[in-house]
Amino acid sequence: MRTVYLDHAATTPIHPDVVAAMAPFWYDVAGNPSSIHETGRAARNAVDASRDAIAAILGASASEVVFTSGGTESDNAAIKGVALASMHRGRHLVTTAIEHHAVLHACAWLEPLGFETTYLPVDSCGLVDPDDVRRAIRPDTILVSVMLANNEVGTIQPVADIAAVTREAGVPFHVDAVQAAGTLPIDMRRLGIDLISISAHKFHGPKGIGALVIRDAIPWRPMQSGGSQERNRRAGTENVPGIVGMAAALRLADSRRDATNAHVATLRDATVARLLNAIPGAQVTGHPRERLPNNASFAFRGVEGESILLSLDMAGIAASSGSACTSGSTEPSHVVAALGLPDDWVRGTLRLTFGRANDHDDVEAVVRVLPPAIARLRALSPRGADGTPRDALAPQSRVGKGAGGIGGNEAPGQASTARA
Ligand code: PLP
Repeated sequence: MRTVYLDHAATTPIHPDVVAAMAPFWYDVAGNPSSIHETGRAARNAVDASRDAIAAILGASASEVVFTSGGTESDNAAIKGVALASMHRGRHLVTTAIEHHAVLHACAWLEPLGFETTYLPVDSCGLVDPDDVRRAIRPDTILVSVMLANNEVGTIQPVADIAAVTREAGVPFHVDAVQAAGTLPIDMRRLGIDLISISAHKFHGPKGIGALVIRDAIPWRPMQSGGSQERNRRAGTENVPGIVGMAAALRLADSRRDATNAHVATLRDATVARLLNAIPGAQVTGHPRERLPNNASFAFRGVEGESILLSLDMAGIAASSGSACTSGSTEPSHVVAALGLPDDWVRGTLRLTFGRANDHDDVEAVVRVLPPAIARLRALSPRGADGTPRDALAPQSRVGKGAGGIGGNEAPGQASTARA
């Protein structure tokens, strides 16, 4: 059975051109970039060229790029690194309720050291209000961290507007761009971002490599002790094939951005329209327009996300309920909960994320499998076809009244609410 892979927000398959670019650095050019012999120098040159390429695409200087092991390390290094370098000035951070756990848990890690974090709410589409950021900043605020695009519902934040606020206040601004890099154009200088996290495996690069870009003037302390690699900012022998692969993948994504985004948006929109049409008690989560082009995320009333995933998996469809880290746990997603969905909906989340290799057959597969699977799951519990508890079924409450303010299938035509 062919796997229909609809989980590109969790990770993406590596591109064959990226593997080809990496291969010499496992075999022919296997030197340590810190070694002075020829193969070491060749490895150093490859790391430097990759750094130049990544900096150019992100609107940064090469000297500002620090290679890490991925998004989690970059987020931790950004938050803990700025906090530890700034604690003499203040111990207050501002972030949002819908960040990835790499950010949320890094903020929590700082608490025993006397730091305090304000977690900003989002609206029902997952948007942060820049005025909320302005109001949250205090004289002792030393960092604001807001993601560019959400990993679960795909909502894209107004980071340029938030940067205008942080600039005015003189507070460093970190952006977790792990889901956005490769998909959205990012120009750190133009956007006014001070630190940014990216991770190669989200844009068809290798796993276990990422970068934290830190503008030169930002107070920051490295997390690792040891060698002087990365200009004393990240001790440890560089992952040369990984760095080369990340640069190759980012170049590839950057050069094909418009075509890839148009392709995945077409598949996403077709899927959303057809599923909302076929499944009663369904709604799209996240923003109707300001969202990643490949993200179709849903809430279904009165079903468990885990059960939906198992049904899809048995039919050869790989998807996710919320983020990969929270699947396997029965807790509702903190992101979907922050959107303010009613209890009856928050557990029934599904995230379908498309990639360049998906096609309309994949849309057909999910449209064939998902509606009957949800009908079966609802029939197992005492619920109506739209997920309403049977004892609550009254004529006026039959279809989705009070189900929260974002796109659903309560009225014809709402299927277009997820179009980007
Ligand atoms: N930040 C966001 C928004 C993510 O989606 C992820 C991964 O899912 C991470 C951080 C962590 O990245 P990595 O898997 O490279 O550690």
